[in-house]
Amino acid sequence: MNSTTKRILLVEDEKNIREAVTAYLEKEGYWVTAVEDGKDAIDEFGKHDFDTIILDLMLPKVSGEKVCKVIRDTSDVPIIMLTAKGEIEDRIIGLELGADDYLVKPFSPRELVARVRALLRRANSDREPLREAMEYGELTIDMSGHKVLVNGEEVDLTASEFKLLATLSRYPGRVYSRMELVEKVLGYDFEGYERTIDSHVKNLRAKLGDNPRDPKWLHTVHGVGYRFEDPSKGERG
Ligand code: CA
Repeated sequence: MNSTTKRILLVEDEKNIREAVTAYLEKEGYWVTAVEDGKDAIDEFGKHDFDTIILDLMLPKVSGEKVCKVIRDTSDVPIIMLTAKGEIEDRIIGLELGADDYLVKPFSPRELVARVRALLRRANSDREPLREAMEYGELTIDMSGHKVLVNGEEVDLTASEFKLLATLSRYPGRVYSRMELVEKVLGYDFEGYERTIDSHVKNLRAKLGDNPRDPKWLHTVHGVGYRFEDPSKGERG
């Protein structure tokens, strides 16, 4: 398993569903740990870091509801609840307990994979810790206020431009590939949109007054992508 493989905990007591979903997720490249009751779910959860939990509501030994509560005590990992048709109140309970999404049985594995992808994407973008205003020379990025200032003057950025700048500046010096930026900024997970990032960078540079030939903040890494530098700290490499 490489470091980008997403690890999923599947908790489902119905053998057919468990096996079908496991096979489908594995085919899609996910690493799946499948268990059949709530007790094993809690045990496994304590042993590994999972990127998403798929949790059936009606489970032997410990209910899905209880498992969800236990997980939410310590973690904000995305949880998808599986419920049987008609368990409307249970669905509401699931969401109140802190599940992020739910699927009603019978569902198609394809639909489940789409939901997992969407949750993983959201998890990537939402979980950046809220920061105070960060200063990089003349550039100020106010994360909580969603504002960017150059020499104290507010710069009007689109949502994508702001996201791009926030992403790059999070780790100054770190190189991001175009594909990575597509995923983090635009939320797509397929190829073909890398050049969109180039246009966003171009616009961002124009708005910040950052000269691409002698950049202060936004540096092109040829053949790869971009990196952000903090000019007040001097350039690395
Ligand atoms: Ca069940």
